[in-house]
Amino acid sequence: MRISHCIVSAALALPVAALADDHQHSLEAHVHGIATLNIALEEQQLELQIESPAMNIVGFEYQPKTATDKQTVEAAQSTLKDAAALFVLNPAAQCTLTSVSVDNDLLEETDEHDHDHESHSDVESHDAEHSHSDINAHYHYHCSKPAALNNLDLAGFFKQFPRTEKIRVQFITADQQQGVELSHEHTQFNW
Ligand SMILES: [Zn+2]
Repeated sequence: MRISHCIVSAALALPVAALADDHQHSLEAHVHGIATLNIALEEQQLELQIESPAMNIVGFEYQPKTATDKQTVEAAQSTLKDAAALFVLNPAAQCTLTSVSVDNDLLEETDEHDHDHESHSDVESHDAEHSHSDINAHYHYHCSKPAALNNLDLAGFFKQFPRTEKIRVQFITADQQQGVELSHEHTQFNW
């Protein structure tokens, strides 16, 4: 009895190690606590693109089940759409927000579920396979004086979503590209 139990454990050890290795690869793009922000400035068009694990934004990554879960996701969704509460651009650049879109894994699945009750078991197995969820948000601004734009402060974002520990920023214009890592202690990006 005891010997066969040992053999089973040894046989299981190998695939688990292989899985852990796979997991390391996926973590490069999805690490809890870390978000990425791409900033693209082209003439008077400024685009901010945030990509974040849902964990940083709502505190969980499973499909919302209870009323409280759903409220948390909806509250995070409206905070994400409130660009002024998240980003401060230097006023001299005279940037105005022209559009916002939020791509939220935790909302899409909810919609699908509501519309198609028959595929309930499919949705559940889908959840089990995809235990991670992301939230991406795009913000477009029109800046009347883009040459004056040389600063972005993310203090608001860190305050609204304190589970975000670091934001990896990539800034791209026609003639320059630079990257910086921001945190709660260091929220400003100057270029
Ligand atoms: Zn995750």
